[in-house]
Amino acid sequence: MRFSVDPWDPTYGTSLDADLGASSAEVDADVEVPRARWRPLEPDPRTARPEAVLFVDGVRRVDAQVWVDDGQVGAAAPGLCASYAAGVVCCCPGDGAHLLAAHVKRGLFTTADDATDVVTGAGTYSATGRVAPAGDAPPMQLLSQALQTRLAEVELLAAAAARAEHGLGTDSGDDLLVVDGPLRGRQHLPRALGFVKSHRSDYLPAPQGAVVAELRTGQRTPVFRVGTSWERFTWYLRLPCPPGAPWAGIVRVECTAELPVADAVALATLSQATLVRFASTEYKDSRAPQNLYPIGGLERALRRRLGEPALLYRALRRAAA
Ligand SMILES: [Zn+2]
Repeated sequence: MRFSVDPWDPTYGTSLDADLGASSAEVDADVEVPRARWRPLEPDPRTARPEAVLFVDGVRRVDAQVWVDDGQVGAAAPGLCASYAAGVVCCCPGDGAHLLAAHVKRGLFTTADDATDVVTGAGTYSATGRVAPAGDAPPMQLLSQALQTRLAEVELLAAAAARAEHGLGTDSGDDLLVVDGPLRGRQHLPRALGFVKSHRSDYLPAPQGAVVAELRTGQRTPVFRVGTSWERFTWYLRLPCPPGAPWAGIVRVECTAELPVADAVALATLSQATLVRFASTEYKDSRAPQNLYPIGGLERALRRRLGEPALLYRALRRAAA
């Protein structure tokens, strides 16, 4: 397979926010309490903490943009050579915070028909299969989405491997899995929460949205249901933070809509008892407090495992020559 490498561009790998626009969302705010009775809900001090809290996260980086010769004269298809990694950090009483799984992958994502693995002196980029063009969507956006989808799959594998390795069964275990970001694609994982820090879409009608700004540390909104391309239960929670903007320290937590409402409410209460403990303090993390410190540590550990970008870029240039 012949391919060429584009000049390096530091904006590669700029992350896409997967949160969908509020305009397409259907909201049911009467799930836990009728919407007219929305108010901040206190944490319940009697909440039993899980035996272990597992944090799942992934990191991705585009090492080079490439053009893959697809055999026809003068035709070249765009591609991305990317490194990505997913891992799990466990916080449990005996062992403190410990890394349970770290899976590092390199892939070639392209719209070319017959792509093969790109073997370089610094690592092999596995051909991931053709990414099909879709309407008017820019190819690079499709390739970036394909990378994100693959990363989510590796996160799933890492989560399952971590639970098995730790002896935490999938059915009856007393652990809690916290996925950094929306839960979409991972919603079938048992006892799993999605942890969403960015608020590009404000799902709630004004009267209920006002309750978010009233939340004090550790308080949450009632559980509500949101449907976009998929359905979930969700709630807003305020993490410890210095007084500031009305949405400072606010995160949105979500779980699968497959659960009975009572189970979703129990998970919401559990999130108040657990996530607040892991809020990073400002001196530890510039994105404090929304970045939970086990996730910050996991991201750093995963980024180190992606390898040196300049080295990989040079190796790709050599492989193309
Ligand atoms: Zn553990």
